[in-house]
Amino acid sequence: MSDDRLILGIDLGTTNSLAAVMTPAGPEVLRDGQGQAIVPSVIEFTPGGVTVGAEARAHAVANPLATIYSVKRLMGRGMDDVAAVAEHLPYQVVPGPHGTVCVQIGERLLTPQELSAIILREVKQRAEAALGREITEAVITVPAYFDDAQRQATRDAGRIAGLNVRRIVNEPTAAALAYGLDRTDESTIAVYDLGGGTFDVSILRVAGGVFQVLSTQGDTALGGDDFDRALIDVITSETRRQFGSDLTFPPSTRQALRNFAEAAKIRLSDEDEARIEVDLGEGRSFARTIAREEFEDLIGEWVDHTIEHCQRALKDARLQPDQIDQVVMVGGSTRIPLVRQRVGAFFGRAPYTAINPDEVVAMGAGVQAGILAGLRQDTLLLDVIPLSLGIETLGGAMGKLIMRNATVPCQASETFTTYVDAQTAVDINVLQGERELSTDCRSLGRFKLAGIPPMPAGMPRVRVAFLVDANGILNVSAQELRSGKEASVQITPAHGLTRDEVDQMVQDSYAHARQDMRAHQLIDTRNEANRVLSAIDKALADVGDVLDDRQRRRLDEAVAALNSRMTGDDPDALYEAMTAANDAAEPLTTAQMNRVLKETVKGRKLDEVG
Ligand code: AMP
Repeated sequence: MSDDRLILGIDLGTTNSLAAVMTPAGPEVLRDGQGQAIVPSVIEFTPGGVTVGAEARAHAVANPLATIYSVKRLMGRGMDDVAAVAEHLPYQVVPGPHGTVCVQIGERLLTPQELSAIILREVKQRAEAALGREITEAVITVPAYFDDAQRQATRDAGRIAGLNVRRIVNEPTAAALAYGLDRTDESTIAVYDLGGGTFDVSILRVAGGVFQVLSTQGDTALGGDDFDRALIDVITSETRRQFGSDLTFPPSTRQALRNFAEAAKIRLSDEDEARIEVDLGEGRSFARTIAREEFEDLIGEWVDHTIEHCQRALKDARLQPDQIDQVVMVGGSTRIPLVRQRVGAFFGRAPYTAINPDEVVAMGAGVQAGILAGLRQDTLLLDVIPLSLGIETLGGAMGKLIMRNATVPCQASETFTTYVDAQTAVDINVLQGERELSTDCRSLGRFKLAGIPPMPAGMPRVRVAFLVDANGILNVSAQELRSGKEASVQITPAHGLTRDEVDQMVQDSYAHARQDMRAHQLIDTRNEANRVLSAIDKALADVGDVLDDRQRRRLDEAVAALNSRMTGDDPDALYEAMTAANDAAEPLTTAQMNRVLKETVKGRKLDEVG
């Protein structure tokens, strides 16, 4: 492989993110020194800076207002879209610019793009550490059901993180690629993906090494988080029954409940029952055993929902369940036995679960990255438009130019005219959706074609062209043909960011880099200081009697000073206090070493020891 062509394949998940690259031996998920591939998609903001991943997730209980998870649910969305989701998030979701949403952390407002960029930057840095080289190019996966604004938002997040996003790939397409299903002769595959926050099912056809997504269906707000919530609802209603209906849960308790519920859910995938024990404070506690059947009853309705989507996807593809040759399972929630049973029963065949459902999408992104880097020329990838695209026509109807499930890349154009004499400008409202009235569709953006020479009504011929590129991202242009007047227009999604805003965020991310680095430094130093403190404790117990009064006082003072710095935000001050404590403990360290040495030489001649 030529080194300069390395492209990172990234699965940017609701719950977890991870990356893979193509190697001569095939796609390989990247792991850290501990063998860990997954970076929890969780960000914690502290006065000292920002941390990402397992550490941030572990602090979610203690710092609920500043620990951000499930950002993917907010990407490219407006306040109305996320109202139901935001209600269940312990952090603050507030209106942002252009109808977007933002997350408020203290005084700071951050867009979902910036938050996702923080996760992507972490994934990038870990990949760079694993590979020992810089990475600037990436393929990022998104649910097949993501609309234009959500794809754009993902692309912007990549840019903010310093990545040139070469391709946005649908997750099911990636999963099928990971299984190497592009190399089967001819088959029809259903990819069922149930993750933490999103569900989608896609029907793919592979023939002669060519992939085609026949249809996609899904729900961007259905997943394992809902199952956790179902369990939380049981716990809260039962605790209220036990302790009174006015019992309230502070954010930290709500976050703790979420952790307990998820742990119980995961246990129930392998065992018949799970025990939940929650400390509610003030001497109150709640304990309860939940059986697998009870859990299955709780989540049954959601699983039914996913099967209805499977039915719809088949209908769109004009297929019957028995025409599906393979069923591929993706996403952590497909480990739930009930999910596997229902999906297997619906398609009439055992689902394919050979590859770890958490890693399969990243592996496929790695395969796609390999194809783009020119490592494999044998696969052509065709995806489909998830929702129809069109413009608002006279009287507020939706005029569809590109139909749902059209294969990308694709283009379409339509020519129309004016209805008023001497009209010099036309407003164009770009719509996405299946409904007939423009008010029932989502407006992706509006633009004005101005500067048309005055002509009688009906004379101008305005041609609007839609081009959807290989990433499923829409470009719209308009031209008045009679006058040759061409207006170049750039469309910004209604729930997206302008180029300037993205550039500004790239700048901001540099500005925050120092602060973020200090946060890392603080954590590392704190860990180190903890080690020093426990080593001093141990040494005091072992050889404490070697210290004279003055030495002992000096050490006690240094330890007290270090302890008082532990909760501060200043890594330099902490480092200084740690060094001082280390210096004060010097006589102890020397005494310990002498003792070890004495034990080693006991019974042996000195020259044997040297
Ligand atoms: P993903 O978005 O694909 O990373 O999936 C994450 C979701 O899978 C979360 O809701 C997890 O709680 C859930 N999950 C992971 N492992 C299991 C398991 N063994 N049983 C049930 N759910 C799981």
